[in-house]
Amino acid sequence: MADFRTHAAFGVGLGAAVSAVAATLGLVSGPMILVPIFFVAALGAMAPDIDSDSGVPFHVAFGALSIIAGGAVWSAQISKGTAWNEAALFGVGTAAAVWIVVGGIFKRLTTHRGMAHSLPAALLAGLSVFFVGGTLSYGEGDAFLLGTAALLGYLAHLVLDEAYAAVDFHGHRLLPSRSLGSALKLASSSWIATVTVYLGIVSLLLGNVSRLFSLTKGLWKAVV
Ligand SMILES: [Zn+2]
Repeated sequence: MADFRTHAAFGVGLGAAVSAVAATLGLVSGPMILVPIFFVAALGAMAPDIDSDSGVPFHVAFGALSIIAGGAVWSAQISKGTAWNEAALFGVGTAAAVWIVVGGIFKRLTTHRGMAHSLPAALLAGLSVFFVGGTLSYGEGDAFLLGTAALLGYLAHLVLDEAYAAVDFHGHRLLPSRSLGSALKLASSSWIATVTVYLGIVSLLLGNVSRLFSLTKGLWKAVV
């Protein structure tokens, strides 16, 4: 498998390429959207390794989640009139609980190269970004581009993992490694993880059916 630095470098290159293509083809509403497109593609290329318990993506994601949760509790306590030191205690306690409890549950439920490394997970990532982009008052075209950037970044990670499993870039291995085929798959050995990802896709599709329908109609008109 490719390591974090390889994925990060690849992600940055892909982010630059996707935003350059979107700008050249005039697909974006303005230059400002190119920055989030770049970051979404780059982050998408690192995201699947969140299932690696000791990996950088896990620490960044759950570190950020802990800080945000702790900060939210702290500011809620302050606005309630709690003394700052007591509020700080609540904040730190919440951050620790999120890190230990929520992070711990996530670690238990996920295995490296599990369902996070799969084609439906890539689709789920793209649909989630498309959905969130719509709620963040981006235009429909921009939200679709953001979703596509996330999907492409995620797929690039999976392809890179498979490429590293098939070819040994550092040594002289002749046979593909055992991890070949464990990134570009449709289901994992955990049925709970598999069902969760597919349910996520179905609910996002159903929840955005009118948006997707009008977007498809617009694309069709543009093509015909
Ligand atoms: Zn990976």
